[in-house]
Amino acid sequence: MIRALLDGALAALLAPCCAVCGALLDRPLDGAVCPTCWAGVPRFSPPLCARCGDPLPDRRAAAGGCCAVCSVDLGPIAAARALGPFEGRLADLIHACKYGRRPSIATGLGHRMRALHGTLSEHIDLVVPVPLHPRRERERGFNQAALVAAALGPPLCEALTRRVHTSPQAAASGAARHANVRGAFAPNREARRVRGRVVALVDDVLTTGATLAAAAAALEAAQPARIVALTAARAELARR
Ligand SMILES: [Zn+2]
Ligand SMILES: [Zn+2]
Repeated sequence: MIRALLDGALAALLAPCCAVCGALLDRPLDGAVCPTCWAGVPRFSPPLCARCGDPLPDRRAAAGGCCAVCSVDLGPIAAARALGPFEGRLADLIHACKYGRRPSIATGLGHRMRALHGTLSEHIDLVVPVPLHPRRERERGFNQAALVAAALGPPLCEALTRRVHTSPQAAASGAARHANVRGAFAPNREARRVRGRVVALVDDVLTTGATLAAAAAALEAAQPARIVALTAARAELARR
């Protein structure tokens, strides 16, 4: 009741707009994005590659449960899952979150990613966000991966530190991306909690897997039982 009144007052006084499509928000307390944009997020549906989580063309293609051309090098990551492809409304949302500085979008993505656990065959004990370099986090004001991870459900463990300020990955090729981030991460004091546990590394986008593989390599030093990866989006899907 009070929330509805507040929503009404905020909508009337401030006329806030959706961070993605610009439509007026009826219920600004629900976040920076309108329900239509959230409903328009493209999502993967099964069958999925058991390892990289990419959608498979049909059930016959699922030889051994994996895609024929698993195109990502995930290093020590046993399996990865994403909400959907990095395109359309999902790409718009991630862009608005990071560059439009809308941290509430990361939380909204995390809530919608909770169902991804179910497509993995195990319980997740801890979620570990891929860290930003402190300088980049200061510039942005938040780490979107940490906000996504905090909304996923399992306990949050910020076990990694980014010690190298890497150049933006956007333009680099697969091999260059892997070289770019190798050694960029290190386990910190929180990493003690990881030992013997099933850990989900969390990031906003999985592209070549370079960043997640480097983060996982650093996490391995803390001896988790198993590492999986959860991301909001998957970019550069291989044609198959
Ligand atoms: Zn919208
Ligand atoms: Zn695959």
